[in-house]
Amino acid sequence: MKTSKKFLLQECDIPTQWYNILADMPNQPAPLLNPGTREPLKPEEMEGLFAKALVEQEFSTERFIDIPDEVRQLYKAYRPTPLVRAYALEKALGTPSKIFFKNESVSPVGSHKMNTAIAQAYYNAEQGIKLLTTETGAGQWGSAMSAACRHFGLELMVFMVKNSYNAKPYRKHVIHTYGGKVAASPSNLTDYGKKLLAEDPENQGSLGIAISEAVEMAVKSGNARYTLGSVLNHVLLHQTIIGLEAEKQMEMAGEYPDKVIACFGGGSNFGGVSFPFLRRVLNGERKLTAIAAEPAACPKLTTGKLEYDFGDTAGMTPLIPMYTLGHDFQPEQIHAAGLRYHGGGRIVSQLKKDGFIESCAIDQDETFRAGILFARTEGIIPAPESTHAIAATIREALKAKESGKGEVLLFNLSGHGFLDMGAYEKYV
Ligand SMILES: *Cc1c(COP(=O)(O)O)cnc(C)c1O
Repeated sequence: MKTSKKFLLQECDIPTQWYNILADMPNQPAPLLNPGTREPLKPEEMEGLFAKALVEQEFSTERFIDIPDEVRQLYKAYRPTPLVRAYALEKALGTPSKIFFKNESVSPVGSHKMNTAIAQAYYNAEQGIKLLTTETGAGQWGSAMSAACRHFGLELMVFMVKNSYNAKPYRKHVIHTYGGKVAASPSNLTDYGKKLLAEDPENQGSLGIAISEAVEMAVKSGNARYTLGSVLNHVLLHQTIIGLEAEKQMEMAGEYPDKVIACFGGGSNFGGVSFPFLRRVLNGERKLTAIAAEPAACPKLTTGKLEYDFGDTAGMTPLIPMYTLGHDFQPEQIHAAGLRYHGGGRIVSQLKKDGFIESCAIDQDETFRAGILFARTEGIIPAPESTHAIAATIREALKAKESGKGEVLLFNLSGHGFLDMGAYEKYV
């Protein structure tokens, strides 16, 4: 049978290993620090917070890491995800560039978050952990963890940023449907939450605050661990499944990207799609540009400073060397709640410092315009987060129109926007 021209689907095998870019970086990022002693953090010190296997991955410099069979089996429910040539978008823009996108919105929960949620739940269950805690901004990570925990019989407590809890009630229902518990953060379930509510009962919360609450509960409960949906090395590692598949699929299409583009919250979908391609840059085989598309309201890579900062607001996590806007930075309430995180993580920050990646900051009007054009051409309503990647891709495609030099552009569609229709309705 002839393959359809538009879709390059399902034809590559699911990779058997994740790719660890630390093995190929010329300069290693500075270490995580213990916030008390300011000494480099030892793996043992992280094991109270994260499953042992995940801590091992966090510190690993091994180039390829095997994907456990159980995890690969669950990936099969929705992977490989489609690589799509966006012909209709190209035509609408009148660009000489070829635009491809990797469609991570086809996962059961509608975003790339499922790729690491499955792996994290698996390793925790393997270790005999009973309760996982986590935070969620817009609700995508909480939904993914809730679905993944169900597979492995784990209990889940999600601290959801209060603003999103009220603005996006459907995500809460999704978490409940899979069996997870969810509380609006700041909550009365932790000492830190109680303290903040005493100071200001109307506190709308932030990702940093929700992380502090989830960490506190994990540390204080028996046989519990914490999970994080972005920022950390092991999370980016799991997400490289996106780029590893895309690399094979681009090859099947007979193309190689000049630019790889993704939206940037804490760097997991960006690292996921771009690291396997950057490997070829680091080892001198190829040239390409990786672009992180940030919201103008929270541009840590574009205008932040590279320094040690906490991952949360209360200062309970290890100190992370990263581009940051400061752990107490309170971004505006943009619709792309998943991009409202203050820091860029260790690996991406080092790559930015060494000139291997670029970033741009885009305001909400431009991203919604891009999202609507994408919906009207390619037929998929993108998540507000993903519209940043689309807007950055459109910028590049229009530049090529001006210069007359077409390029091959690849962006990651990190999720769909079906549960964000309120935001679209306001814009339309
Ligand atoms: C969480 C999320 C993001 C942002 O997180 P990263 O770790 O930067 O990828 C982007 N898009 C969607 C759909 C998300 O759910």
